[in-house]
Amino acid sequence: MTGLSTNAIHGADHLSTVTDVMPPINVSTTYKFDNDNLIPAADLPVQDFEIPIYAREAHSNSAAVEAALGKMTGAHAVAYNSGLSAFHAAITYLNPKVLAIGGGYHGCHGVADIISRNYNMKQVGLDEFEKLGKGDVLHLETPINPHGTNYDIQYYADKAHAQGAYLLVDATFAPPPLQDPFLHGADMVMHSATKYFGGHSDLLAGVLLTKSKDVKYSLLMDKQFLGTNIANLESYLLLRSLRTFELRINQQIRNTELLLKAIVDGKFPAIKEIFHGSLQTDEYIAKQVNGCTPCFSIILQSEAMAKAFPKKLKYFHHATSLGGVESLVEWRAMSDTEIDTALVRVSVGVENSQDLIDDFTNALNEAAKEFQ
Ligand SMILES: *Cc1c(COP(=O)(O)O)cnc(C)c1O
Repeated sequence: MTGLSTNAIHGADHLSTVTDVMPPINVSTTYKFDNDNLIPAADLPVQDFEIPIYAREAHSNSAAVEAALGKMTGAHAVAYNSGLSAFHAAITYLNPKVLAIGGGYHGCHGVADIISRNYNMKQVGLDEFEKLGKGDVLHLETPINPHGTNYDIQYYADKAHAQGAYLLVDATFAPPPLQDPFLHGADMVMHSATKYFGGHSDLLAGVLLTKSKDVKYSLLMDKQFLGTNIANLESYLLLRSLRTFELRINQQIRNTELLLKAIVDGKFPAIKEIFHGSLQTDEYIAKQVNGCTPCFSIILQSEAMAKAFPKKLKYFHHATSLGGVESLVEWRAMSDTEIDTALVRVSVGVENSQDLIDDFTNALNEAAKEFQ
């Protein structure tokens, strides 16, 4: 088995038709037919998405992104123009009558609500297994937004499968090497590639992963009509990003370990509670989790303190989103109507770890001083 970086950098080499070391940015929406080999569509048993015809169906860089992500994850990958397009595509393809869904990313709930409004899909809580039937879907986000805490994938896989339902895992918060949901029974995995795979806060993309070649083909067939293929420029940017993915994620993991250690050990009076996967002691954690997801949340002593805290930071921008090379904090009440208004989400970037620790702990002390 080749390693993560090798797969990220060379996973699409076989698709290259040029001598360029970096794939060129193809802006063409249409591709010339081979006049010496004209086979009518009606005579083709299956569509070959690796030979580009029209960019809504596939283009050379979307096929390259899919090849690289597939090699990196040991699965078949289908790339979309956003994480939510990937989630929508999964629900459209699996077509459940009942969707079990817990907390987690508000946008997935938004998509589910549209499907429920239009097609009467029923939504039930994550643990209401008995309400699932054959062909239904249990959607599990782990680690979960915004807390970064984990759920036991194998437990939910077993419960879903016992009902004849599928397990879809949103693994955005723990890309490889942090976890492989397929090892614990997931049927389909999604990522917002806008986050860690993209990693530079400059592209929107999503990916669905499946172990089945046939399912991938069906997803590609759907995608060409849903019109949600990843765009040309974004595909190029994502291929560029994947080349440094392993370096980035490892630095983010390391920075998060050190920052968390500093704030846990430091017992800062500004902090009421810290949420992170590494603080969980459940038995399944050792089997499922291979490191420190670079996103966590803290609850400060008051809403006012949580609102003031971001202003005291130098290297953590105050912005939503996560996974980029730049560290971010977000007073989560800005994006989430139901969240504790004293909660701050932290996304750790690749800056120097000591600089991040100094900045963060200084801001905690400043916030405590202001509100004591
Ligand atoms: C960002 C995110 C999404 C949605 O992805 P987009 O690329 O913004 O559409 C879905 N799930 C999780 C956990 C996310 O963080």
